[in-house]
Amino acid sequence: MPLCSVIGKTIPWYFSAMILFMNLLTVIGNPIAHSLSPTIQLLFSGQTGIELVYDKTLATEQNFSTVLQQLATTHIGCNITAPFKTLAWQLATRLTPEAATAKAVNTLHFNSGEWLGHNTDGIGLVTDLTHNLQFKLTDKTILLLGAGGAARGVIPALLACQPKQLIIANRDLAKANLVAAEQNTQVPISVQTYTQLEHSVDCIINTATAFTPLPATVLHANTLCYDLRYHNNADFLTWTTQHSARAVDGLGMLVEQAAAAYEFWFGVKPITRPVLKQLRADRA
Ligand code: NAP
Repeated sequence: MPLCSVIGKTIPWYFSAMILFMNLLTVIGNPIAHSLSPTIQLLFSGQTGIELVYDKTLATEQNFSTVLQQLATTHIGCNITAPFKTLAWQLATRLTPEAATAKAVNTLHFNSGEWLGHNTDGIGLVTDLTHNLQFKLTDKTILLLGAGGAARGVIPALLACQPKQLIIANRDLAKANLVAAEQNTQVPISVQTYTQLEHSVDCIINTATAFTPLPATVLHANTLCYDLRYHNNADFLTWTTQHSARAVDGLGMLVEQAAAAYEFWFGVKPITRPVLKQLRADRA
């Protein structure tokens, strides 16, 4: 694929020659237009002085593998978002322990024919919860909604914080049972349908692409309701507002998982707080 079409723009030849010597990155998903990853990675680039070009790539399940093969000839790596994290895990030629445990890849590094797959969703969520929001997960009862690629990424990191219990609820119960059975942990895990949920929990984490309204009994006065989504999340906000619950979106996780990806590619950890502050200000 010619470089000009990789980055999706018509550009003069001299600019094309210049970017040959820059670090090319992209985020692949479907849909992808909403993604804030380019904005975040360019803010990290400005902070650390590492020059990069970061764009968005729309793919389908049918062409995902071909798109990756093309990117691997021009790019140093990419991020992968819904719904391709499991496919990326299957296609990676080597995996970090985080990606192997999660069976989902959200970050790839292309290096001399090797596709090293990593997963930064877990560290992203846990850093946002425990560091940015000062919410301690140890000994807490956590209700996690969903059992897709994002759930796979975050569950091992949540379990490593030694919560008291993890409850997983998903529309497709077989999928939730499979994810639960794959965890290597002493933490008790139970799988429930949405309609079985009744007891109060300390933290609700929505990893599903749609929020299913829950019985009010899952809430107590201090329950933290965290939605991994940071746009198109009116269903979640309506429910949390109706119940006067503490609600947080996934913007902090997005920035933290992006910082971990940046460190994976470049060996430099950017400072996340000003970036998150800027994104919140841009959206206000
Ligand atoms: P995915 O692999 O496609 O999984 C989708 C999940 O959503 C599945 O559990 C699916 O349930 C559930 N779901 C879909 N439609 C539903 C509906 N109408 N009602 C109830 N459940 C429904 O996607 P993913 O990679 O896990 O991503 C999930 C979400 O997390 C996306 O919105 C993504 O943008 C967000 N995310 C945010 C961050 C961040 O940094 N903030 C990071 C990762 C992901 P079934 O199994 O029953 O089909």
